[in-house]
Amino acid sequence: MKTSITSRLRIGILGATGTVGQRFIQLLEHHPQFEVTAVAASERSENKPYAEACTWRLPAEMPAFVKPLRVRAPQPPLDCDVIFSSLPSETAQAIEENFARAGYPVISNSSSWRMAPDVPLLIPEINPDHLRLLDRQRVSRGFARGGFIVTNPNCSTVMIAMALAPLHARFGIAAAIATTMQALSGAGYPGVASLDATDNVIPYIASEEEKIECETGKILGCISSATSAKANSLEIDHAGFPVSAQCHRVNVSDGHMAAIRVKLVRQVKIGEVHDALASFTGLPQELKLHSAPQRPIIVRSEPDRPQPRLDRDAGGGMSITIGRLQPDRVLDFRLVALSHNTIRGAAGAAILNAELLLAQGHFAAARSHSA
Ligand code: NAP
Repeated sequence: MKTSITSRLRIGILGATGTVGQRFIQLLEHHPQFEVTAVAASERSENKPYAEACTWRLPAEMPAFVKPLRVRAPQPPLDCDVIFSSLPSETAQAIEENFARAGYPVISNSSSWRMAPDVPLLIPEINPDHLRLLDRQRVSRGFARGGFIVTNPNCSTVMIAMALAPLHARFGIAAAIATTMQALSGAGYPGVASLDATDNVIPYIASEEEKIECETGKILGCISSATSAKANSLEIDHAGFPVSAQCHRVNVSDGHMAAIRVKLVRQVKIGEVHDALASFTGLPQELKLHSAPQRPIIVRSEPDRPQPRLDRDAGGGMSITIGRLQPDRVLDFRLVALSHNTIRGAAGAAILNAELLLAQGHFAAARSHSA
């Protein structure tokens, strides 16, 4: 792998002009290990300088480094070592596979590959051991040396899985119910029409409920122990408890929220639940990864928190905030979780995944590609 004078890994972003793509560029501007060297988007943007192709919609200026980069078609070769993908799911599957096949590590936000049995669906604090699936991918997919696909969860699944993970690990979960209130930016740009969003709540987000219900079980599942040394036999044994989700689009710019009710396998006191959540930490904190928040879960005791405007930027947008923890009359406990949907729910999650992959040597075989 060739790196630049600064020794940073060269990143290519697919879907670079979109909501998540812009967040990638903002978060990577001063990243110590990664630098953006290639941007790709649709035919609409192709061959234009990024500054012309992209209408910048985040606060503060478009970073100067990206303005002159020419937007490329999302196909190999691109001038980079690693791909971060924020393509619409309809187009992502074939394009991401093309890059992996050509030997690029692909760190994807899209839903296309999340449930594939040989693709890690990674939250580094919860299931870093699922990266062992990459051994199976290398054997079974025939990707060129260095190529693989790793995904991060749906933007609501991530906060639900993070809230449930410490409880499942300590007490076992028997069932969980999640009702989401999801921000407008979760639909990309232009997203929901203003006349639909204003003064309104929309009780439908296509495929979202199914994604939360399936992805949570995979994330909290266990990878088969290496009883056999055969990479092909590695698989995730999904967590067995049912998850029921109902999703709503609400008139909030950024920050997804979920009201969660949970039934535990054994009886515990509310203080134990509080401790399990507040003390939750993982490998990214241990390794001091650049994007790892000091506290992955912040538990608040005020009766009116979390709130999107006040809490979405906690831990640089990488912490989830939990409040309203109470006993529940129907299940055992209830709580409200909140996270930043384009940071912990998308670009920040992918960057943290890449930092863990780098720390564990998974990019060692990545090659420097040139267009
Ligand atoms: P978006 O704002 O609509 O941006 C889409 C991006 O993809 C743009 O750069 C667009 O380029 C490009 N694109 C569209 N069609 C293309 C095609 N046929 N070929 C190549 N590029 C194409 O969407 P987004 O919200 O950033 O979401 C991107 C992905 O991330 C989706 O899979 C989404 O489900 C996932 N995601 C989003 C969020 C969130 O909070 N928004 C959270 C988690 C995951 P042009 O500008 O040239 O059209």
